Amino acid sequence: MKLHGIHHISSIVGHAQRNVDFYAGLLGMRLVKKTLNFDDSSTYHFYYGNENGSTNILTTFPWNDAESGQIGGGQVGITSLAISPDSLDFWKQRLNDFKIEYHTEERFNVQRLAFEDMDGLLYELVASNEEPKSNWEFNGVDSNHAIKGIDSAYIHSRVPHATLSMLQDVFNYKIIDESFDAYLLAVDGGLGSRLELNKTTKDPSRQGVGTVHHIALGISNGDEEAWLEKLIAAGYRPTEIKERKYFRSIYFREKGGILIELATVGPGVLVDESEEELGKELLIPPHFEAIKDEIVDTLMPIEVREVKELIGYGYRDKYEFDLLRKKEKIKREILELKTKEDPTRTDLAKIEVLKKELLAVK
Ligand code: ZN
Repeated sequence: MKLHGIHHISSIVGHAQRNVDFYAGLLGMRLVKKTLNFDDSSTYHFYYGNENGSTNILTTFPWNDAESGQIGGGQVGITSLAISPDSLDFWKQRLNDFKIEYHTEERFNVQRLAFEDMDGLLYELVASNEEPKSNWEFNGVDSNHAIKGIDSAYIHSRVPHATLSMLQDVFNYKIIDESFDAYLLAVDGGLGSRLELNKTTKDPSRQGVGTVHHIALGISNGDEEAWLEKLIAAGYRPTEIKERKYFRSIYFREKGGILIELATVGPGVLVDESEEELGKELLIPPHFEAIKDEIVDTLMPIEVREVKELIGYGYRDKYEFDLLRKKEKIKREILELKTKEDPTRTDLAKIEVLKKELLAVK
């Protein structure tokens, strides 16, 4: 039974449009799937990957009004994203341009550019020669500099020795390097094959905005039952096999507190959209189809767009979004009338009416 390394990492974030602007607009990743949380029809589930979603994927659940979490033991702490070795300077400049603070550091002989997203999730861009390169080009990130996928993850365990045994005994990870405070582990090569594990116990994490919800490791199609049996035999209490449309999954919490998902590599994100169409439409999971209209009416609209800065998120939901758009429309009309060369008496009267309308929009 082959383990395919990191399949995806799923995090809880805040504002949905700000999330799209950060991951698609700034980081230049492709939004390859716009769907809903399988267990909560009022929450989006975004998938970000390469041009065809063929490498591993970052996914986010935007929970705008939820409380911030705390990064700590029982969680992925840092997600490292692979870029070409000669792209580090490009990314320093780009983070500067977007006014995102960063610092550089080196662990296990790998140069890293570390930064946080707008919700406090920790990321690093790391130099990697792994193939394939991403061919997605968007908003100033061309394929030479595009993020290829998830290189590795730094995990914080509440019981590091138990997490280490699990990774070695159940999943066949090998220690390939070690520092005073962490192990570097790997399974058979490729993007996402490495994990770093802290050696010292961290204070427990608290789930919330700005934290990773779970990490998924890839398994071969058809191996689900065998993995389920293996987990039970090793003393874990996994969920049943769940149908996630793009893969089939099993979840379990390991003894160090980390929620791990095993996800089949197939069928993948091209199962319901062509490569050309990926991420364009909102895909409603079949069990929510009956309430589709209601969902669309209440979801905050989002768009993948070319942004130069991360500003303008003064709305928390669809209702506030609509009000803001209404205000902007009235303001535009007022400005048009005001800047007319020869405003008529009717124009001036109209301005007064519009001003009152503007005040009335609450
Ligand atoms: Zn997952």
